[in-house]
Amino acid sequence: MIKGGFAVVTGAASGIGQALAETLSTGGISRLALLDIDRVGLARVAAGLSGPKVTLHPVDLSDPGAIEAVFAALGDEALPIDLLFNNAGIPAGTPSWPDTELSRIQAILNINLMGVVAATRLALPLMRRPGGSILNTASTSGLRPYLSGAVYAASKAGVVMFTQSCADLAVRDGVRVNAICPGIVDTAFLDKTGAGGAARAPWLVERLKAGGALTPKAVARAAIALALDESRAGTYEVLEAKP
Ligand code: NAD
Repeated sequence: MIKGGFAVVTGAASGIGQALAETLSTGGISRLALLDIDRVGLARVAAGLSGPKVTLHPVDLSDPGAIEAVFAALGDEALPIDLLFNNAGIPAGTPSWPDTELSRIQAILNINLMGVVAATRLALPLMRRPGGSILNTASTSGLRPYLSGAVYAASKAGVVMFTQSCADLAVRDGVRVNAICPGIVDTAFLDKTGAGGAARAPWLVERLKAGGALTPKAVARAAIALALDESRAGTYEVLEAKP
């Protein structure tokens, strides 16, 4: 773990992002910036953290102007960012592809892919050079095609290819970019996959019966280990529950 470093986590109000914030805090990070659209959730997570100086940044990561404002504020601190976790995301939702509403398609691509690209773009000049590390949360859905979640799969495949394409930033800027591709993780995300975004999708219930789920803590630990592995740049790691 980076002792005394500065980490930024998106999607920090819940699930994997919350587990990242907690694991980084207990691991000795000294400065933590938490980003999420859920202001109440951010405050709840921060109340459970002790150790680092924590700042909360309520932001809609589908809004480029809002992301710009947050990173401008982080830049004002004149502290290099050691670790950026681009983790916020939303599921495919319903109705499934090809009946997905255009507004939902836009939201999936804007948050899951554009949010990652924009935060990377804005964080890069603020990262420690050399030594900064960016870790993107993709998904096994970005590696394995499936019809009903075609837009979500495309957004995560975009994150995987973006990550791989950033490999040479390690040489150019001294900043490594990698990704994790988790299978099913036991978070609130699962309850947003079904009808009206407030239930579990039937396919998910069947998959859980067959294979179980990862814990957000296990995913956070693996993500941090990959982010800190100085031999890795432009790579991804698949994480799946052991049945
Ligand atoms: P979660 O729903 O518990 O957390 C996601 C967080 O992202 C929430 O706090 C939410 O408020 C935030 N968020 C959503 N839209 C946002 C926006 N526009 N701006 C800012 N923040 C926003 O889900 P999770 O499982 O912890 O998901 C984290 C990441 O892991 C996502 O990118 C997701 O696609 C990915 N993932 C999840 C699973 C799974 O099974 N849970 C599997 C593979 C990948």
